[in-house]
Amino acid sequence: MKFKTDFILPRPSLYSYGQITAMDLQNYIGGKFLEPLHKQYLTNTNPATGEAYGRIPRSGENDVTLATKAARDAFPHWSTLPAAERSAWMLKVADEIERRLPELALAESIDNGKPLSLATAVDIPRARDNFKFYATAILHDAYETHDMGTHGFNYTLRQPVGVAGCISPWNLPLYLFTWKIAPALAAGNTVVAKPSEVTPATAFLLCKILDDIDFPSGVLNIVHGLGAEVGAAIVAHQDIPIISFTGGTQTGKAISAVAAPMFKKLSLELGGKNANIIFEDCDFDEAVKTSVRAAFANQGQICLCGSRIYIQRSIYEKFKEAFVARVKGLTVGDPLEESTRTGAVVSKAHFEKVLSHIAVAIDEGGTLLTGGNPVQLEGRCKNGYFIAPTVFENLDATCRTNQEEIFGPVVTLTPFDTEEEALAMANSTAYGLAATVWTSNLQVAHRMAARLHAGIIWVNCWLLRDLRTPFGGVKQSGVGREGGFEALRFFTEPKNICIKL
Ligand code: NAD
Repeated sequence: MKFKTDFILPRPSLYSYGQITAMDLQNYIGGKFLEPLHKQYLTNTNPATGEAYGRIPRSGENDVTLATKAARDAFPHWSTLPAAERSAWMLKVADEIERRLPELALAESIDNGKPLSLATAVDIPRARDNFKFYATAILHDAYETHDMGTHGFNYTLRQPVGVAGCISPWNLPLYLFTWKIAPALAAGNTVVAKPSEVTPATAFLLCKILDDIDFPSGVLNIVHGLGAEVGAAIVAHQDIPIISFTGGTQTGKAISAVAAPMFKKLSLELGGKNANIIFEDCDFDEAVKTSVRAAFANQGQICLCGSRIYIQRSIYEKFKEAFVARVKGLTVGDPLEESTRTGAVVSKAHFEKVLSHIAVAIDEGGTLLTGGNPVQLEGRCKNGYFIAPTVFENLDATCRTNQEEIFGPVVTLTPFDTEEEALAMANSTAYGLAATVWTSNLQVAHRMAARLHAGIIWVNCWLLRDLRTPFGGVKQSGVGREGGFEALRFFTEPKNICIKL
Protein backbone atom coordinates (compact mmCIF):
# COMPACT_ATOMS: atom_id res chain seq x y z
CA MET A 1 0.00 0.00 0.00
CA LYS A 2 1.35 3.44 -0.91
CA PHE A 3 0.57 6.70 0.83
CA LYS A 4 0.82 10.21 -0.35
CA THR A 5 1.99 12.00 2.71
CA ASP A 6 2.61 15.32 4.40
CA PHE A 7 4.62 14.11 7.28
CA ILE A 8 5.37 10.48 6.77
CA LEU A 9 7.44 8.77 4.17
CA PRO A 10 6.23 5.21 4.24
CA ARG A 11 9.19 2.85 4.17
CA PRO A 12 11.60 1.61 5.33
CA SER A 13 10.47 3.05 8.63
CA LEU A 14 11.62 6.58 9.18
CA TYR A 15 9.40 9.45 8.30
CA SER A 16 9.95 13.12 8.23
CA TYR A 17 7.98 16.29 8.65
CA GLY A 18 9.71 19.44 7.59
CA GLN A 19 13.07 19.45 9.34
CA ILE A 20 12.12 17.02 12.07
CA THR A 21 12.48 13.29 11.76
CA ALA A 22 9.15 12.12 13.11
CA MET A 23 10.61 9.21 14.95
CA ASP A 24 13.08 11.41 16.77
CA LEU A 25 10.30 12.58 19.00
CA GLN A 26 10.14 15.74 21.03
CA ASN A 27 7.93 16.93 23.81
CA TYR A 28 5.26 19.49 23.03
CA ILE A 29 5.07 22.08 25.78
CA GLY A 30 3.53 25.53 25.66
CA GLY A 31 3.03 25.20 21.91
CA LYS A 32 6.70 24.40 21.26
CA PHE A 33 8.58 21.24 20.35
CA LEU A 34 11.23 20.78 23.01
CA GLU A 35 13.98 18.35 23.78
CA PRO A 36 13.81 16.79 27.23
CA LEU A 37 15.67 19.05 29.64
CA HIS A 38 18.23 16.36 30.50
CA LYS A 39 18.61 15.44 26.82
CA GLN A 40 18.16 11.76 27.49
CA TYR A 41 16.39 9.46 25.05
CA LEU A 42 14.87 6.02 24.90
CA THR A 43 14.91 3.77 21.84
CA ASN A 44 11.71 3.17 19.93
CA THR A 45 11.41 -0.29 18.37
CA ASN A 46 9.23 -1.52 15.55
CA PRO A 47 7.72 -4.75 16.93
CA ALA A 48 7.13 -6.21 13.47
CA THR A 49 10.85 -6.11 12.64
CA GLY A 50 12.49 -5.96 16.06
CA GLU A 51 14.48 -2.96 14.79
CA ALA A 52 15.10 0.33 16.54
CA TYR A 53 13.71 3.10 14.42
CA GLY A 54 13.84 6.26 16.47
CA ARG A 55 14.28 7.99 19.77
CA ILE A 56 11.79 9.01 22.42
CA PRO A 57 12.52 11.73 24.97
CA ARG A 58 13.25 10.24 28.35
CA SER A 59 11.76 13.22 30.14
CA GLY A 60 11.76 13.78 33.86
CA GLU A 61 10.08 15.68 36.65
CA ASN A 62 11.44 19.03 35.42
CA ASP A 63 9.82 18.54 31.99
CA VAL A 64 6.53 17.77 33.71
CA THR A 65 6.89 20.90 35.82
CA LEU A 66 7.47 22.96 32.68
CA ALA A 67 4.43 21.42 31.00
CA THR A 68 2.28 21.97 34.07
CA LYS A 69 3.27 25.61 34.20
CA ALA A 70 2.36 26.02 30.52
CA ALA A 71 -0.98 24.33 31.17
CA ARG A 72 -1.68 26.53 34.19
CA ASP A 73 -0.86 29.65 32.21
CA ALA A 74 -3.22 28.58 29.43
CA PHE A 75 -6.06 27.66 31.77
CA PRO A 76 -7.65 31.08 32.38
CA HIS A 77 -8.13 31.71 28.67
CA TRP A 78 -9.15 28.19 27.58
CA SER A 79 -11.49 27.57 30.49
CA THR A 80 -13.42 30.77 29.85
CA LEU A 81 -13.72 30.44 26.07
CA PRO A 82 -17.35 30.02 25.05
CA ALA A 83 -18.13 26.33 24.46
CA ALA A 84 -18.69 27.04 20.77
CA GLU A 85 -15.10 28.30 20.42
CA ARG A 86 -13.57 25.34 22.25
CA SER A 87 -15.75 23.14 20.08
CA ALA A 88 -14.51 24.81 16.91
CA TRP A 89 -10.87 24.22 17.87
CA MET A 90 -11.53 20.60 18.62
CA LEU A 91 -13.41 20.08 15.37
CA LYS A 92 -10.39 21.46 13.55
CA VAL A 93 -8.26 18.79 15.22
CA ALA A 94 -10.81 16.14 14.21
CA ASP A 95 -10.76 17.35 10.61
CA GLU A 96 -6.97 17.17 10.49
CA ILE A 97 -6.98 13.65 11.93
CA GLU A 98 -9.44 12.73 9.19
CA ARG A 99 -7.32 14.35 6.48
CA ARG A 100 -4.18 12.60 7.67
CA LEU A 101 -5.80 9.29 8.48
CA PRO A 102 -3.61 7.13 6.21
CA GLU A 103 -0.42 8.62 7.61
CA LEU A 104 -1.52 8.30 11.21
CA ALA A 105 -2.67 4.73 10.63
CA LEU A 106 0.68 3.86 9.13
CA ALA A 107 2.50 5.38 12.09
CA GLU A 108 0.27 3.47 14.51
CA SER A 109 0.84 0.20 12.73
CA ILE A 110 4.62 0.65 12.63
CA ASP A 111 4.78 1.69 16.26
CA ASN A 112 2.44 -0.94 17.69
CA GLY A 113 2.64 -3.94 15.35
CA LYS A 114 -1.09 -3.90 14.74
CA PRO A 115 -2.38 -4.55 11.23
CA LEU A 116 -2.50 -1.40 9.14
CA SER A 117 -6.02 -2.46 8.16
CA LEU A 118 -7.10 -2.27 11.82
CA ALA A 119 -5.41 1.06 12.48
CA THR A 120 -7.07 2.42 9.33
CA ALA A 121 -10.54 1.07 10.08
CA VAL A 122 -10.63 1.46 13.85
CA ASP A 123 -7.88 3.28 15.73
CA ILE A 124 -7.56 6.50 13.81
CA PRO A 125 -11.23 6.97 12.90
CA ARG A 126 -12.02 6.52 16.57
CA ALA A 127 -9.44 9.16 17.57
CA ARG A 128 -11.14 11.54 15.14
CA ASP A 129 -14.55 10.61 16.56
CA ASN A 130 -13.40 11.18 20.13
CA PHE A 131 -12.60 14.79 19.28
CA LYS A 132 -15.81 15.22 17.28
CA PHE A 133 -17.97 13.61 19.92
CA TYR A 134 -16.80 15.83 22.79
CA ALA A 135 -16.54 18.94 20.62
CA THR A 136 -20.23 18.61 19.86
CA ALA A 137 -21.30 17.22 23.25
CA ILE A 138 -20.42 20.51 24.95
CA LEU A 139 -22.75 22.33 22.58
CA HIS A 140 -25.64 20.33 24.01
CA ASP A 141 -24.64 20.21 27.66
CA ALA A 142 -26.90 21.94 30.19
CA TYR A 143 -26.68 22.81 33.86
CA GLU A 144 -29.20 21.63 36.42
CA THR A 145 -31.53 23.81 38.46
CA HIS A 146 -33.46 22.78 41.56
CA ASP A 147 -36.52 24.88 42.31
CA MET A 148 -37.49 25.35 45.97
CA GLY A 149 -40.79 27.06 45.22
CA THR A 150 -41.28 30.27 47.17
CA HIS A 151 -38.11 29.64 49.23
CA GLY A 152 -35.62 29.98 46.44
CA PHE A 153 -33.84 28.04 43.75
CA ASN A 154 -30.50 26.40 43.01
CA TYR A 155 -28.43 26.23 39.90
CA THR A 156 -25.40 24.01 39.56
CA LEU A 157 -22.39 25.11 37.56
CA ARG A 158 -19.99 22.53 36.22
CA GLN A 159 -16.60 24.15 36.16
CA PRO A 160 -13.39 22.73 34.72
CA VAL A 161 -11.06 21.35 37.38
CA GLY A 162 -7.77 22.85 36.20
CA VAL A 163 -4.76 21.06 34.75
CA ALA A 164 -5.70 17.45 34.00
CA GLY A 165 -3.10 14.67 33.91
CA CYS A 166 -3.89 12.05 31.24
CA ILE A 167 -1.88 8.82 31.08
CA SER A 168 -2.58 6.12 28.52
CA PRO A 169 -1.42 2.62 27.47
CA TRP A 170 0.02 1.12 24.29
CA ASN A 171 -2.70 -1.16 23.00
CA LEU A 172 -4.91 1.43 21.28
CA PRO A 173 -2.48 4.33 21.35
CA LEU A 174 -4.15 7.35 19.76
CA TYR A 175 -7.64 5.95 20.30
CA LEU A 176 -7.28 5.81 24.11
CA PHE A 177 -5.08 8.89 24.39
CA THR A 178 -7.75 11.04 22.74
CA TRP A 179 -10.54 9.30 24.68
CA LYS A 180 -9.18 11.15 27.73
CA ILE A 181 -7.82 14.31 26.22
CA ALA A 182 -10.94 15.20 24.24
CA PRO A 183 -13.38 15.32 27.18
CA ALA A 184 -10.77 17.01 29.38
CA LEU A 185 -10.29 19.81 26.84
CA ALA A 186 -13.96 20.05 25.93
CA ALA A 187 -14.83 20.60 29.58
CA GLY A 188 -12.40 23.52 29.69
CA ASN A 189 -9.39 21.95 31.37
CA THR A 190 -5.88 22.24 30.09
CA VAL A 191 -3.88 19.03 29.88
CA VAL A 192 -0.51 17.48 30.59
CA ALA A 193 -0.55 14.10 28.89
CA LYS A 194 1.76 11.13 28.61
CA PRO A 195 1.30 8.44 25.99
CA SER A 196 2.82 5.02 26.53
CA GLU A 197 6.58 5.00 25.96
CA VAL A 198 6.00 1.81 23.98
CA THR A 199 3.82 3.54 21.36
CA PRO A 200 4.43 7.30 21.39
CA ALA A 201 4.40 8.06 17.65
CA THR A 202 0.82 9.10 17.00
CA ALA A 203 0.72 11.30 20.11
CA PHE A 204 3.70 13.11 18.65
CA LEU A 205 1.96 13.43 15.29
CA LEU A 206 -1.08 14.82 17.09
CA CYS A 207 1.24 17.60 18.31
CA LYS A 208 2.18 18.24 14.69
CA ILE A 209 -1.48 18.72 13.96
CA LEU A 210 -1.91 21.12 16.89
CA ASP A 211 1.08 23.06 15.71
CA ASP A 212 -0.13 23.21 12.11
CA ILE A 213 -3.54 24.57 13.02
CA ASP A 214 -2.13 27.02 15.61
CA PHE A 215 -4.04 25.39 18.41
CA PRO A 216 -3.82 27.67 21.46
CA SER A 217 -0.43 27.23 23.16
CA GLY A 218 -0.19 25.39 26.44
CA VAL A 219 -3.70 23.96 26.29
CA LEU A 220 -2.47 20.46 25.44
CA ASN A 221 1.06 19.55 26.49
CA ILE A 222 2.56 16.15 25.76
CA VAL A 223 5.53 14.83 27.68
CA HIS A 224 7.16 11.57 26.63
CA GLY A 225 9.00 9.15 28.85
CA LEU A 226 8.80 6.28 31.27
CA GLY A 227 5.85 5.60 33.51
CA ALA A 228 7.91 5.49 36.67
CA GLU A 229 9.44 8.88 35.78
CA VAL A 230 7.09 11.07 33.71
CA GLY A 231 3.89 9.25 34.71
CA ALA A 232 4.79 9.30 38.37
CA ALA A 233 5.73 12.99 38.18
CA ILE A 234 2.34 13.86 36.66
CA VAL A 235 0.53 11.90 39.34
CA ALA A 236 2.52 13.52 42.16
CA HIS A 237 2.45 17.10 40.83
CA GLN A 238 0.70 19.41 43.25
CA ASP A 239 -0.73 21.58 40.46
CA ILE A 240 -2.45 18.67 38.72
CA PRO A 241 -5.60 18.01 40.74
CA ILE A 242 -7.18 15.41 38.45
CA ILE A 243 -5.76 12.24 36.90
CA SER A 244 -7.28 10.09 34.20
CA PHE A 245 -5.38 6.84 33.80
CA THR A 246 -5.78 3.78 31.59
CA GLY A 247 -3.40 0.89 32.02
CA GLY A 248 -2.61 -2.11 34.18
CA THR A 249 -4.20 -2.81 37.55
CA GLN A 250 -0.85 -2.78 39.40
CA THR A 251 -0.02 0.64 37.96
CA GLY A 252 -3.49 1.82 38.94
CA LYS A 253 -2.79 0.77 42.53
CA ALA A 254 0.52 2.63 42.56
CA ILE A 255 -1.16 5.76 41.18
CA SER A 256 -3.96 5.58 43.77
CA ALA A 257 -1.42 5.30 46.58
CA VAL A 258 0.10 8.64 45.56
CA ALA A 259 -3.00 10.49 44.35
CA ALA A 260 -5.53 9.52 47.02
CA PRO A 261 -3.72 11.17 49.97
CA MET A 262 -3.47 14.31 47.82
CA PHE A 263 -7.29 14.13 47.34
CA LYS A 264 -7.00 14.18 43.57
CA LYS A 265 -9.94 13.28 41.38
CA LEU A 266 -9.12 9.91 39.86
CA SER A 267 -10.46 7.90 36.96
CA LEU A 268 -8.85 4.48 36.60
CA GLU A 269 -9.50 2.19 33.64
CA LEU A 270 -7.59 -1.00 34.39
CA GLY A 271 -7.15 -4.61 33.35
CA GLY A 272 -9.72 -7.18 32.33
CA LYS A 273 -10.21 -10.93 32.05
CA ASN A 274 -13.48 -11.00 30.27
CA ALA A 275 -15.91 -13.90 30.05
CA ASN A 276 -17.65 -14.81 26.81
CA ILE A 277 -20.61 -17.09 27.59
CA ILE A 278 -22.16 -19.15 24.82
CA PHE A 279 -25.58 -20.74 25.43
CA GLU A 280 -26.83 -23.63 23.30
CA ASP A 281 -29.68 -21.56 21.82
CA CYS A 282 -27.38 -18.86 20.39
CA ASP A 283 -26.98 -17.94 16.73
CA PHE A 284 -24.15 -20.44 16.38
CA ASP A 285 -22.34 -19.09 13.33
CA GLU A 286 -22.45 -15.52 14.55
CA ALA A 287 -21.26 -16.58 18.01
CA VAL A 288 -18.28 -18.45 16.57
CA LYS A 289 -17.31 -15.68 14.18
CA THR A 290 -17.57 -12.89 16.72
CA SER A 291 -15.93 -14.91 19.50
CA VAL A 292 -12.85 -15.37 17.32
CA ARG A 293 -12.73 -11.63 16.72
CA ALA A 294 -13.34 -10.91 20.41
CA ALA A 295 -10.49 -13.25 21.32
CA PHE A 296 -7.84 -12.22 18.80
CA ALA A 297 -8.52 -8.70 17.53
CA ASN A 298 -5.38 -6.58 17.94
CA GLN A 299 -3.55 -9.84 18.87
CA GLY A 300 -5.77 -10.16 21.96
CA GLN A 301 -4.40 -6.85 23.23
CA ILE A 302 -7.70 -5.10 23.90
CA CYS A 303 -8.80 -4.74 27.50
CA LEU A 304 -12.26 -5.91 26.35
CA CYS A 305 -11.14 -9.11 24.61
CA GLY A 306 -13.10 -12.20 25.64
CA SER A 307 -10.33 -14.52 26.76
CA ARG A 308 -12.38 -16.96 28.86
CA ILE A 309 -14.94 -18.66 26.66
CA TYR A 310 -17.60 -20.66 28.52
CA ILE A 311 -19.71 -22.92 26.30
CA GLN A 312 -22.84 -24.86 27.22
CA ARG A 313 -21.88 -28.55 27.26
CA SER A 314 -24.50 -29.64 24.71
CA ILE A 315 -22.73 -27.61 21.99
CA TYR A 316 -19.20 -27.67 23.43
CA GLU A 317 -17.63 -30.08 20.92
CA LYS A 318 -19.36 -28.50 17.93
CA PHE A 319 -18.35 -24.99 19.04
CA LYS A 320 -14.77 -26.06 19.77
CA GLU A 321 -14.38 -27.59 16.32
CA ALA A 322 -15.78 -24.56 14.50
CA PHE A 323 -13.88 -22.08 16.69
CA VAL A 324 -10.50 -23.80 16.35
CA ALA A 325 -10.95 -24.24 12.59
CA ARG A 326 -11.56 -20.52 12.27
CA VAL A 327 -8.61 -19.62 14.49
CA LYS A 328 -6.35 -21.80 12.36
CA GLY A 329 -7.42 -19.66 9.43
CA LEU A 330 -6.05 -16.48 11.03
CA THR A 331 -2.80 -15.86 9.23
CA VAL A 332 -0.13 -14.04 11.15
CA GLY A 333 1.58 -11.62 8.81
CA ASP A 334 3.42 -8.39 8.12
CA PRO A 335 1.18 -5.69 9.64
CA LEU A 336 1.73 -3.45 6.63
CA GLU A 337 0.34 -5.97 4.16
CA GLU A 338 -3.19 -5.06 3.21
CA SER A 339 -4.49 -8.58 3.78
CA THR A 340 -2.99 -9.04 7.26
CA ARG A 341 -5.49 -9.33 10.10
CA THR A 342 -3.11 -10.62 12.82
CA GLY A 343 0.09 -8.69 13.38
CA ALA A 344 2.87 -8.53 15.96
CA VAL A 345 2.50 -8.20 19.71
CA VAL A 346 3.69 -4.85 20.94
CA SER A 347 7.22 -5.47 22.27
CA LYS A 348 9.86 -8.05 23.07
CA ALA A 349 9.00 -7.82 26.77
CA HIS A 350 5.33 -8.43 26.05
CA PHE A 351 6.15 -11.24 23.61
CA GLU A 352 8.10 -12.98 26.37
CA LYS A 353 5.37 -12.35 28.90
CA VAL A 354 2.70 -13.93 26.68
CA LEU A 355 4.92 -16.94 25.95
CA SER A 356 5.51 -17.38 29.67
CA HIS A 357 1.75 -17.47 30.20
CA ILE A 358 1.48 -20.16 27.53
CA ALA A 359 4.11 -22.18 29.42
CA VAL A 360 2.09 -21.76 32.62
CA ALA A 361 -1.06 -23.00 30.85
CA ILE A 362 0.81 -26.11 29.70
CA ASP A 363 2.20 -26.61 33.22
CA GLU A 364 -1.30 -26.34 34.60
CA GLY A 365 -2.34 -29.29 32.42
CA GLY A 366 -4.09 -27.35 29.67
CA THR A 367 -4.66 -29.10 26.37
CA LEU A 368 -3.33 -27.02 23.52
CA LEU A 369 -5.84 -27.00 20.64
CA THR A 370 -3.94 -24.68 18.33
CA GLY A 371 -1.06 -22.19 18.42
CA GLY A 372 1.14 -21.96 21.50
CA ASN A 373 4.25 -20.96 19.57
CA PRO A 374 6.10 -17.90 18.32
CA VAL A 375 5.83 -17.41 14.57
CA GLN A 376 8.87 -16.52 12.51
CA LEU A 377 7.99 -14.70 9.34
CA GLU A 378 10.25 -14.31 6.35
CA GLY A 379 11.75 -11.14 4.97
CA ARG A 380 11.68 -7.82 6.79
CA CYS A 381 9.61 -9.28 9.66
CA LYS A 382 11.87 -12.23 10.41
CA ASN A 383 12.87 -10.79 13.82
CA GLY A 384 9.43 -9.51 14.75
CA TYR A 385 7.38 -10.44 17.79
CA PHE A 386 4.67 -12.70 16.40
CA ILE A 387 2.69 -15.33 18.30
CA ALA A 388 0.25 -17.83 16.82
CA PRO A 389 -3.34 -17.39 18.06
CA THR A 390 -3.54 -19.90 20.88
CA VAL A 391 -6.47 -21.91 22.26
CA PHE A 392 -6.46 -24.13 25.35
CA GLU A 393 -9.06 -26.36 26.96
CA ASN A 394 -9.19 -28.53 30.09
CA LEU A 395 -8.18 -25.75 32.43
CA ASP A 396 -9.99 -25.22 35.70
CA ALA A 397 -11.73 -21.85 36.13
CA THR A 398 -9.58 -21.16 39.20
CA CYS A 399 -6.16 -21.75 37.61
CA ARG A 400 -3.75 -18.91 36.86
CA THR A 401 -4.44 -19.02 33.14
CA ASN A 402 -8.12 -18.35 33.80
CA GLN A 403 -7.56 -15.80 36.54
CA GLU A 404 -4.67 -13.62 35.35
CA GLU A 405 -4.81 -11.11 32.53
CA ILE A 406 -2.56 -12.29 29.69
CA PHE A 407 -3.42 -9.47 27.28
CA GLY A 408 -2.31 -11.47 24.26
CA PRO A 409 -3.57 -13.99 21.72
CA VAL A 410 -4.38 -16.73 24.24
CA VAL A 411 -7.85 -17.99 25.17
CA THR A 412 -9.39 -20.92 27.02
CA LEU A 413 -12.52 -22.95 26.26
CA THR A 414 -14.49 -24.37 29.20
CA PRO A 415 -17.83 -26.22 29.20
CA PHE A 416 -20.67 -25.43 31.60
CA ASP A 417 -23.96 -27.15 32.38
CA THR A 418 -26.16 -24.55 34.05
CA GLU A 419 -26.62 -20.81 34.02
CA GLU A 420 -25.52 -20.70 37.68
CA GLU A 421 -22.30 -22.51 36.88
CA ALA A 422 -21.50 -20.18 33.98
CA LEU A 423 -22.19 -17.18 36.16
CA ALA A 424 -20.02 -18.44 39.02
CA MET A 425 -17.07 -19.07 36.70
CA ALA A 426 -17.53 -15.76 34.89
CA ASN A 427 -17.60 -13.84 38.18
CA SER A 428 -14.69 -15.71 39.73
CA THR A 429 -11.85 -13.34 38.80
CA ALA A 430 -10.62 -10.19 40.49
CA TYR A 431 -11.55 -8.26 37.33
CA GLY A 432 -14.91 -6.92 36.16
CA LEU A 433 -14.52 -4.97 32.95
CA ALA A 434 -16.74 -6.59 30.28
CA ALA A 435 -18.68 -9.79 29.56
CA THR A 436 -20.54 -11.16 26.56
CA VAL A 437 -23.59 -13.43 26.54
CA TRP A 438 -24.79 -15.36 23.50
CA THR A 439 -28.39 -16.58 23.69
CA SER A 440 -31.70 -16.17 21.90
CA ASN A 441 -33.58 -16.33 25.20
CA LEU A 442 -34.33 -12.80 26.33
CA GLN A 443 -34.92 -13.86 29.93
CA VAL A 444 -31.55 -15.59 30.14
CA ALA A 445 -29.89 -12.54 28.61
CA HIS A 446 -31.47 -10.18 31.14
CA ARG A 447 -30.80 -12.48 34.10
CA MET A 448 -27.16 -12.93 33.16
CA ALA A 449 -26.66 -9.23 32.40
CA ALA A 450 -28.06 -8.28 35.79
CA ARG A 451 -25.87 -10.72 37.70
CA LEU A 452 -22.54 -10.54 35.88
CA HIS A 453 -19.91 -8.52 37.73
CA ALA A 454 -18.81 -6.21 34.94
CA GLY A 455 -19.27 -2.62 33.88
CA ILE A 456 -20.04 -3.49 30.25
CA ILE A 457 -22.22 -6.38 29.05
CA TRP A 458 -22.68 -7.26 25.39
CA VAL A 459 -25.55 -9.52 24.37
CA ASN A 460 -25.10 -11.29 21.03
CA CYS A 461 -22.32 -8.90 19.99
CA TRP A 462 -18.91 -7.62 21.02
CA LEU A 463 -17.34 -4.17 20.94
CA LEU A 464 -20.49 -2.59 19.60
CA ARG A 465 -19.84 0.89 20.94
CA ASP A 466 -21.95 3.97 21.38
CA LEU A 467 -19.77 6.79 22.68
CA ARG A 468 -22.65 8.14 24.78
CA THR A 469 -22.63 5.08 27.06
CA PRO A 470 -20.67 4.77 30.32
CA PHE A 471 -17.42 2.88 29.82
CA GLY A 472 -15.45 1.21 32.59
CA GLY A 473 -15.21 -1.66 34.99
CA VAL A 474 -15.83 -2.84 38.53
CA LYS A 475 -13.59 -4.63 41.06
CA GLN A 476 -9.93 -4.49 39.95
CA SER A 477 -10.89 -3.28 36.47
CA GLY A 478 -11.16 0.27 37.65
CA VAL A 479 -12.83 3.15 39.35
CA GLY A 480 -15.17 5.57 37.60
CA ARG A 481 -16.48 5.69 34.08
CA GLU A 482 -15.41 7.28 30.83
CA GLY A 483 -17.69 8.00 27.88
CA GLY A 484 -20.59 10.31 27.20
CA PHE A 485 -21.51 12.87 29.82
CA GLU A 486 -19.85 10.68 32.50
CA ALA A 487 -16.48 11.91 31.26
CA LEU A 488 -17.59 15.55 31.11
CA ARG A 489 -18.82 15.21 34.70
CA PHE A 490 -15.50 13.70 35.75
CA PHE A 491 -13.55 16.55 34.20
CA THR A 492 -15.68 19.20 35.95
CA GLU A 493 -16.50 20.12 39.52
CA PRO A 494 -20.15 20.80 40.28
CA LYS A 495 -20.74 24.00 42.17
CA ASN A 496 -24.20 24.60 43.57
CA ILE A 497 -25.49 28.14 43.96
CA CYS A 498 -28.55 28.57 46.18
CA ILE A 499 -30.53 31.81 45.92
CA LYS A 500 -33.14 32.75 48.48
CA LEU A 501 -36.16 34.49 47.03
P1 NAD B 1 0.84 0.13 32.17
O1 NAD B 1 0.05 0.24 33.42
O2 NAD B 1 2.16 -0.53 32.22
O3 NAD B 1 1.10 1.56 31.53
C1 NAD B 1 0.05 2.45 31.21
C2 NAD B 1 0.60 3.87 31.24
O4 NAD B 1 0.96 4.19 32.58
C3 NAD B 1 1.85 4.06 30.40
O5 NAD B 1 1.82 5.33 29.81
C4 NAD B 1 2.96 3.98 31.44
O6 NAD B 1 4.12 4.64 31.06
C5 NAD B 1 2.30 4.65 32.64
N1 NAD B 1 2.85 4.30 33.95
C6 NAD B 1 3.54 3.19 34.30
N2 NAD B 1 3.89 3.27 35.60
C7 NAD B 1 3.41 4.43 36.07
C8 NAD B 1 3.42 5.07 37.35
N3 NAD B 1 4.03 4.52 38.41
N4 NAD B 1 2.81 6.26 37.49
C9 NAD B 1 2.17 6.83 36.44
N5 NAD B 1 2.14 6.28 35.20
C10 NAD B 1 2.74 5.09 35.03
O7 NAD B 1 -0.14 -0.58 31.12
P2 NAD B 1 0.20 -1.02 29.63
O8 NAD B 1 1.05 -2.23 29.69
O9 NAD B 1 0.64 0.16 28.86
O10 NAD B 1 -1.25 -1.39 29.09
C11 NAD B 1 -1.83 -2.63 29.27
C12 NAD B 1 -2.84 -2.61 30.38
O11 NAD B 1 -3.80 -1.59 30.16
C13 NAD B 1 -3.63 -3.89 30.46
O12 NAD B 1 -3.75 -4.27 31.81
C14 NAD B 1 -4.98 -3.51 29.90
O13 NAD B 1 -6.07 -4.30 30.34
C15 NAD B 1 -5.10 -2.11 30.37
N6 NAD B 1 -6.08 -1.39 29.57
C16 NAD B 1 -7.27 -1.06 30.15
C17 NAD B 1 -8.24 -0.41 29.40
C18 NAD B 1 -9.57 -0.02 30.01
O14 NAD B 1 -10.26 0.78 29.40
N7 NAD B 1 -9.94 -0.55 31.16
C19 NAD B 1 -7.98 -0.08 28.07
C20 NAD B 1 -6.76 -0.45 27.53
C21 NAD B 1 -5.81 -1.09 28.28
